[in-house]
Amino acid sequence: MAKQQFEAESKRLLDMMINSIYSKREVFLRELISNASDAIDKMYYRALTDESITFNQSDYYIRIDVDKEKRQLTVSDTGVGMTKDELESNLGIIAKSGSLAFKNENEIKDGHDIIGQFGVGFYAAFMVADEVSVKSKALGDSQAYLWHSEGADGYSIESCDKETIGTDITLTIKQSEDDDDFDQFLDPHQLQTIVKKYSDFIRYPIKMEVSEQRLKEGSEDDYETVIEDKTINSMVPIWKKNKAELTDEDYHQFYNEKHYGFDQPLEYIHVSVDGNVRYQAILYIPESAPYNYYSAEYEKGLELYSNGVLIMNKAPELLPDYFSFVKGLVDSEDLSLNISREMLQHDRQLKLIEKNLVKKIKQELTKMLRNEREKYEKFYQAFGRQLKYGVYSDFGQNKETLKDLLLFYSSTEEKLVTLAEYVERMKEEQPFIYYATGETNARIERLPQTEIVKDKGYEILYFTDDIDEFAIKMLAEYEGKSFKSVSSGDLGLEDDDKDEEQSVSETDQAIFDKMKDILSNKVSDVRRSKRLKTHPVCLSNEGDISIEMEKVLSMMPDNQGIQADKVLEINTNHEIFQSVKAAFETDQDKVESYTNILYNQALLIEGLPVEDPISYTNDVWKVMK
Ligand code: ADP
Ligand code: MG
Repeated sequence: MAKQQFEAESKRLLDMMINSIYSKREVFLRELISNASDAIDKMYYRALTDESITFNQSDYYIRIDVDKEKRQLTVSDTGVGMTKDELESNLGIIAKSGSLAFKNENEIKDGHDIIGQFGVGFYAAFMVADEVSVKSKALGDSQAYLWHSEGADGYSIESCDKETIGTDITLTIKQSEDDDDFDQFLDPHQLQTIVKKYSDFIRYPIKMEVSEQRLKEGSEDDYETVIEDKTINSMVPIWKKNKAELTDEDYHQFYNEKHYGFDQPLEYIHVSVDGNVRYQAILYIPESAPYNYYSAEYEKGLELYSNGVLIMNKAPELLPDYFSFVKGLVDSEDLSLNISREMLQHDRQLKLIEKNLVKKIKQELTKMLRNEREKYEKFYQAFGRQLKYGVYSDFGQNKETLKDLLLFYSSTEEKLVTLAEYVERMKEEQPFIYYATGETNARIERLPQTEIVKDKGYEILYFTDDIDEFAIKMLAEYEGKSFKSVSSGDLGLEDDDKDEEQSVSETDQAIFDKMKDILSNKVSDVRRSKRLKTHPVCLSNEGDISIEMEKVLSMMPDNQGIQADKVLEINTNHEIFQSVKAAFETDQDKVESYTNILYNQALLIEGLPVEDPISYTNDVWKVMK
């Protein structure tokens, strides 16, 4: 029979198709299986509407057969098959989708499971095959036909023998000396992996002959090779099952099967939404952060399925950065896919789903915080930093979502507390939510700056993460209470005013001026401290940039030398100040040494390095003599 040309610029299109639409060759199998599944769906649909067709559940299946010798891979189905005309129009015209037409003719609405719509998937076979034969017998047709093509130069159709209704598609797999990548498509184990990856949840059984090593009966160490037909897909995805049918164990096992993590998930969320956009999702909150979590290497995202067929391994659009630790998948029938089915046409649906997921995740975390505090603290240990980044980033637009999920260590409770709990305990006259920053809780505990606030009986939150103070600055307030660092200029304590009245004596002021002179360009002022009780000195800051923030910023690669406005505070009631005073009368040189020592000690207390260790030690030696 004469060869026919593919229609409509088809040659060029076919070439383009074969080489550029799909990013991975292996998806050809996904396409053929999806077509087979569509064909069975149509059969099912016909049987429902036409009483003369008898078809049993066990008659619906897809088969994969391999003939290594002939390098042939066959995908067969028991679907509706194609008539001669259909072979011609569906496979002879690229971008013609019989499935789309079927949906339209039968007025099947969006939600139906039929996958095909673009009329290109079939040609993906040419990515891996030199030759493709399609043997098909249509429902209601007594004659079967064979469609055959060797690629871009056309196809032929002739009659052939085939007993049963359905389609067998046989590919002769390419052979290339410098690319043995094709051989995997003749290896049953590799094929099984590909089916698992893309087509595990096709609703009909996909059968294949699989060989397995098995213990011989009655033997403990004698193995035999058993070859048998196996259904290699799991068919009903766990997320389409009813929650009531599933146990914790099932969800945990799925987490492991999917390799979402090596640990056990801390919590799982199973949702099925039937609103504006329909989807099912299974989400996991892991127990611990992956080793690369807080690095640029970590890729967030959820698996995305469209009707049980895997579309994307990691769709980042489904999760905001602050919930990037969440693992799992989303399956939606409402996605508009692009032609390769690897990407989405519009992200409107994804946006809706994302918004929805954020709500669910937050609900779950809030519930955990309320009812299972210990578990929540474990979660917070692993991912709390990410939540704080979330408060800070995107110009603070997510702070409302996140503020009630934050925990900080409390000076009075000696454990992690929420902001709500802090505010609840605040004293009536207490003007601010106080916090102190430092490397560890133990170090903050001993900061001189905390003395007066503690003396008042006020609770202090300890910030030990780089991001803490930045996040809190972005938050600005909680329930109308603003945050105040114990190191900041004005602590808003009542005694301040009283203190103000006892003005600084002239001599003291002269000493401060002298010290400020000595420390020119290092501090913006030297002052009598209102907050120190037992310590002689400390640093505080004026303005928005705190000393802690300066430290963090200085470690950033694009640090612009941003500095805090530091103030050296002196406890005039301390005996050390008496020594300075004495020196001021007699020995100006000594005043200089004292000033430098005190300044450097204040730096050390802040966890900042001594600026010039040599001159610092020289100063210490000088006064020790
Ligand atoms: P799509 O699936 O997007 O429609 P394809 O290129 O994958 O596009 O397939 C083109 C058409 O060929 C399908 O719409 C369907 O009508 C027909 N077809 C392909 N494979 C089969 C099959 N196994 N059984 C019956 N019809 C098929
Ligand atoms: Mg298709």
